Amino acid sequence: MKYLFITCIAAILCLTGFAQQGSWKGKQCAVVLTYDDAIDIDLDHVIPALDSFQLKGTFYLIGASPVIDKRLHEWRSAAANGHELGNHALMHPCDGSKPGRGFVTPENDLSKYSVARAVTEIRQNNVLLKAIDGKERRTFAYPCGDLTVNGVFFYEQLRNEFACARGVAGGIVTPQNANYDNINSYVVNGQDGNYLISLVKQAEQSGGLVVFLFHGVGGGHNINVSSGAHTELLRYLAAGKDKIWVTTMVDAADYMRELKR
Ligand SMILES: [Zn+2]
Repeated sequence: MKYLFITCIAAILCLTGFAQQGSWKGKQCAVVLTYDDAIDIDLDHVIPALDSFQLKGTFYLIGASPVIDKRLHEWRSAAANGHELGNHALMHPCDGSKPGRGFVTPENDLSKYSVARAVTEIRQNNVLLKAIDGKERRTFAYPCGDLTVNGVFFYEQLRNEFACARGVAGGIVTPQNANYDNINSYVVNGQDGNYLISLVKQAEQSGGLVVFLFHGVGGGHNINVSSGAHTELLRYLAAGKDKIWVTTMVDAADYMRELKR
């Protein structure tokens, strides 16, 4: 009887451990919805849409965007309501020396920055975000997906100040393969709702995390997804809430780090 009892306890502990290793808060997979560039459409459309489905998102804010100044209290309310205000740098500098970067002005050309300036401006943006939401912990997203200033990986100096940095390379993330310096995400530009849902299904099948990278939703940016496709995705996520954990980038990163320990 005593041995049976011990065997049962061991089996329960083993099963619990397995469930924790292979699950996301007891769910099959995880989804993070991220929205870049601090645009009006985030406040006008995206946050109300997320709220209507009781979902949380991560908004990567550019400190210098006039939409921060004009609508600061709305960003503060969004953060108080559980959305993450992520750091997308103060000025959104991109490497103008790369092909197809005609939109980069001399003032925000990352290839003309020093590493110290890139790092300082990101830190200043953290100060601004902390003044808005009062939070110490958040994530970073590379403007234009650019990782280096003249060959130097600048995030190395910032690594300890963020839960992770979100990149722009596609791929399902797992606690085992996660690169916290450059978390995979799927850039959405014009795809339909079926495509967006197919990515979530991939995460369900593999037991992984899928990170979406949106800009405009139903307009507001030259990189865009239709409002209909976005709503289809949200509806699918809300209907699947028993098996899909929809969370912020900061919570997903911290959860994966905890699992690995
Ligand atoms: Zn951006």
